[in-house]
Amino acid sequence: IRELIVVLGDQLDADSPVFADFDAQQDAVWMCEAPAEARYAWSHKARIAMFLAAMRHYAHEIERRGWRLIYRATQQHGHDTLADALAADLRELRPQRIRLLWPGEHRLVGDLEAVARNARIELVLLEDPHFLCSRQEFADWMQGRRQPRMENFYRWMRQRTGWLMHDGEPEGGRCNFDEDNRKSFGAHGPGPLRPARRFQPDAITRQVLALVAERYPDHPGELDAFDWPLTRTEALQALADFIEHRLAGFGQWQDAMWADQPLLHHSRLSAAMNLKLLDPREVCATAIEAYRNKRAPLAAVEGFVRQVLGWREYVRGLYWQRMPEFAEDNELGADQPLPWLYWNAQTHMQCMAQTVGQTLKLGYAHHIQRLMVTGLFALLLGVRPREIHLWYLAVYVDAVEWVELPNTIGMSQFADGGVLGSKPYVASGRYIERMSNYCAHCRYDPGKAIGDDACPFTTLYWDFLGRHERRFDGHPRLQFQVKNLQRKSRQEREAIAERAQWLRERLAGQRS
Ligand code: FAD
Ligand code: SF4
Repeated sequence: IRELIVVLGDQLDADSPVFADFDAQQDAVWMCEAPAEARYAWSHKARIAMFLAAMRHYAHEIERRGWRLIYRATQQHGHDTLADALAADLRELRPQRIRLLWPGEHRLVGDLEAVARNARIELVLLEDPHFLCSRQEFADWMQGRRQPRMENFYRWMRQRTGWLMHDGEPEGGRCNFDEDNRKSFGAHGPGPLRPARRFQPDAITRQVLALVAERYPDHPGELDAFDWPLTRTEALQALADFIEHRLAGFGQWQDAMWADQPLLHHSRLSAAMNLKLLDPREVCATAIEAYRNKRAPLAAVEGFVRQVLGWREYVRGLYWQRMPEFAEDNELGADQPLPWLYWNAQTHMQCMAQTVGQTLKLGYAHHIQRLMVTGLFALLLGVRPREIHLWYLAVYVDAVEWVELPNTIGMSQFADGGVLGSKPYVASGRYIERMSNYCAHCRYDPGKAIGDDACPFTTLYWDFLGRHERRFDGHPRLQFQVKNLQRKSRQEREAIAERAQWLRERLAGQRS
């Protein structure tokens, strides 16, 4: 073998640049299902199935091209890690070179470099052109910035790409329509919603589902509702379905939540993009075209483009800038264990029961559920960042570390002390009450911080501000909240701290 082309489970682009000089006479493609990847974070069954099923469909495509494929399926090799499986094959195959796209996880870069070094085989690592901002370009952009901010990065990316720009100016006169995009559904709810297009498991996927059920029975989550797009064709159909039926409502309802409505107007495209079945350029171009054809308003399309061109690229840039220290950040000194309810949804808190419940059922929750329900609760409670990070990495079908870790450690837990965002996203139960109908069905009262029916979010919110009062007193974006705390009497503050401590002990106790 001249070149062994290693394709990882989140690199399923059929036109990947790793194939640029592929010579079917001398080269081979190597893929491997490594059980350790499913256990590194105690992965949801649907997440494991998502990766394996998409990989097997992709492998089929490679074989159809008549290329030599070495595919190590879970049940066929005795190795636990990707590195061990590759090392064993290198001993036999002795390729002249290994070629690989830059992985989505810091840990794997070191592992694979070590394997190649030990085998004395050259490893060629290529930059992944899937992303619109390369690691180097991001590093250049960061140069000299004391505090990177997503908004500045996004403006720069809009200029660079020219997307939604007109004569160098942003379409509609401003770059950001966020203010128009924070509506709740009010008392009437979201109205009739068309369900997202489903992708029924074919024979390959059914085999994978059976394998996952058999091999990983003790892993969290369910497989019954598994209907994700797994091929390029299906991913394009999922994109078309979103543009046609949900994009127009995406902007204004972006932050809203509603009981038993997991998707609302969201795209459900993250997994397909992260697996590289879809390119962010085509995703954004299709959304922008819908705006040009007057099928979606500017605020919706700009809101969507900002998530993909702004947030998605920004968190990836920061991930590679700040790893490996990023994974160890714990600026607020959080020291609580992750409550067991994150794995079983057994709680009277309706917002948590809904969000964790749908997560276990589907492997999906939308951004505000992740940030302002499960993430917020962990932040207010003071859960160790690494534990909550491993939970997010485990339970979502779209979870790959480059995107999951900055969102969790940086955005949702403020464990980086304000690198990714300028302030912690803290709120009381009142925020959830405003943005959803969860509280209407809850035994707790979002307005109360003390008493038997006090909302745990509200108790922990005031307690959080109390515990970090010195740090945030005078913070330009939090001082108002701290001032409200300081208006409370000493007795009330003590009662809040006491109830918060009782909550922490109760939740920690549930674990055993
Ligand atoms: P939509 O709401 O339809 O948004 C459109 C697209 O924008 C998404 O598909 C996604 O590609 C991109 N996007 C939106 N927000 C973000 C963001 N903050 N960062 C990066 N991309 C974004 N996203 C992942 O892809 N994988 C993860 O593992 C992941 N973990 C997260 C953990 C936490 C604690 C938080 C707060 C967010 C996380 N996100 C993650 C970001 C975001 O929540 C998901 O991308 C989104 O909910 C996926 O659903 P969707 O495709 O319907 O997104
Ligand atoms: Fe969640 Fe509190 Fe509302 Fe209950 S009252 S749903 S716990 S925010």
